[in-house]
Amino acid sequence: MDLRPSLPRIHVLAKPTGSVCNLGCTYCFYLKKKVFYPDSHFRMTDQLLERYISQLIESHQGDRVTVAWQGGEPTLMGLGFFQRAIELQEKYRRPGMVFENTIQTNGTLLDDKWCEFFFRNNFLVGISIDGPRALHDAHRVDRNGGPTFDKVIKGLRLLQKHKVEYNVLVTVNRANADHPKEVYSFLRDEIGTTWIQLIPGIERLIKGTVTPYQRGTSVSNRTVRPVQWGNFLIAFFDEWICNDVGKIFVQTFEAAVRNWLGAGSSGMCVFDPVCGKGLALEHNGDLYSCDHFVEPGYFLGSIINDHMVNLVNSEQQRKFGRQKLNTLPTLCRECEVRFACHGECPKNRFLTTPAGESGLNYLCSGYKAFFKHIDRPLKIMASLLRRGLPAAHVMRFFAPGHVRDSKEFPKVGRNEPCPCGSKLKFKKCHGRYVSATSG
Ligand code: SF4
Ligand code: SF4
Repeated sequence: MDLRPSLPRIHVLAKPTGSVCNLGCTYCFYLKKKVFYPDSHFRMTDQLLERYISQLIESHQGDRVTVAWQGGEPTLMGLGFFQRAIELQEKYRRPGMVFENTIQTNGTLLDDKWCEFFFRNNFLVGISIDGPRALHDAHRVDRNGGPTFDKVIKGLRLLQKHKVEYNVLVTVNRANADHPKEVYSFLRDEIGTTWIQLIPGIERLIKGTVTPYQRGTSVSNRTVRPVQWGNFLIAFFDEWICNDVGKIFVQTFEAAVRNWLGAGSSGMCVFDPVCGKGLALEHNGDLYSCDHFVEPGYFLGSIINDHMVNLVNSEQQRKFGRQKLNTLPTLCRECEVRFACHGECPKNRFLTTPAGESGLNYLCSGYKAFFKHIDRPLKIMASLLRRGLPAAHVMRFFAPGHVRDSKEFPKVGRNEPCPCGSKLKFKKCHGRYVSATSG
């Protein structure tokens, strides 16, 4: 019997090529990590792959195991590596176990064979695109500084041709941040995507230089400004809330809905009170506290010498997760949108509050504006969901020119509280707007 402590569900991002990538995106935080492994060939061996898959399975009590690949560029390992990973999942699977394989890629190396493989094995593929050509090529360039847009789109069309499940990851940076509507329309109308992840591109500087460490209180000129981030999210949200709820899924908005519902977890570590369940595994078996903290101070140990369960359950990792909450400045503790923001990610907490306390998030003003802006629509959505109605009904409150009819609110009586959360009776609030024919 295995007496090692068991775990709640964890998420490990494995990096089989470490920081090695075929591109040279100018804002990439991971390319700089190469210095931590000066003599490495940056390839996960088959022996380590087997150890990793078996330990990952042993680390899960439940039946669902996510096997997540990232980089650098993981497809540089070649298809054979991932075929072996699938074989090993079969070898070590417990009865009833279901695997969710995910891979984050720049998409430039994909071909029919890759896409057939992804489809056959139910991979969820994340593909990085920063918007239409000019916005994408502003920073997502090859090693010679050349554009990559056409290659990425070719990869994405192949994924679509083979009906591979995919989502799009947009890094919001100083170049594309002022163009939220352009990015939104491009992804929806030209690409045809239904799942979007947005991450803020932030590079901290020490003495004017980007380093592989999460240190420094100034930022690069590629870094999104707090006001840009807030405005980007707001414009993106406004487009979504009027037209696409239930059709397009934006991870940040889905997390917000969960927080407005008081669901316990937002599904995104950055918007939860504590973290520490999303770890990073380097190509040589080194395990780190988080993908954003792959640096010596956050090294937990090697899975070659110790079992992953012990490393994830170590006091060092527990402390890392709790620190997110314990280091929250008073300004955040007293903030009206704390329930939705939770001070976001500790890696971005390098400002000082007006009262002189350290640990304020660089993006604070943007988040505050965004969360205040979405309060009313999110209250409506939460109210609809609690009543068993589709969240998409929220669009009836916001879509311009929409003629409201009482048939749209079949389960709301005139004297019941309005679904918008105003605490007014429906007839005194949104019920006032229904057409006369509806009674
Ligand atoms: S440090 Fe940030 S990215 Fe890492 S687990 Fe915590 S909240 Fe998530
Ligand atoms: S909006 Fe600002 S003050 Fe409020 S919780 Fe977030 S980072 Fe803290």
